[in-house]
Amino acid sequence: MVDSSTVSTETDLTDEETPEAEPVLEGEELRVARAEAAREVLLGTAGRYHDVITYQALGAAVVERTGVHTKQLLQYWISDVLLRVARECAARDEPNLASLCVNNTGSVGEGYRAAVLAVTGEEPADADDHAAGQRLACHRYFEATNLPESGGQAALAPKLAASRSRARKNAWEAREIPLCPDCNLALPANGVCDECA
Ligand SMILES: [Zn+2]
Repeated sequence: MVDSSTVSTETDLTDEETPEAEPVLEGEELRVARAEAAREVLLGTAGRYHDVITYQALGAAVVERTGVHTKQLLQYWISDVLLRVARECAARDEPNLASLCVNNTGSVGEGYRAAVLAVTGEEPADADDHAAGQRLACHRYFEATNLPESGGQAALAPKLAASRSRARKNAWEAREIPLCPDCNLALPANGVCDECA
């Protein structure tokens, strides 16, 4: 992924470098270090059945572990980190740890879809359903402490499950019900009015 803000940050660091400056990770080294830190954090998440971690929490943990604070906004670097995590998992023949990272709505977001496509060559029909399956595979593979003996079940993040449930309910309540043109009562499934037939 081309990331123009990363390039400009690197240029700024080089321009401002002074002989006294402590060596800091930057460029490719920083991206590798961030991906390694993210993997460690996500392994912890995988170890807890049905746990997920938000982009914000993962980003903060990565910053803390690498010790590198940049002015660059999380949104500009976290996708690269998760893509690298996904690639590493694929190389190790592991389920995708990046599936454990969700946004504030409980969704893995478009970045996940793009990363799965980039790594596997296949685009998931529904990124969140795909991620739910991968998360369960992670909990099993990395032996989550509280995994049920039955093997557990795939689950959407609680917030997303709640909002999808609401959406289904709203769609059901807002559905078009065919009415009898004569008496205006709801027609049964066979389309023949019980009252007027
Ligand atoms: Zn009728």
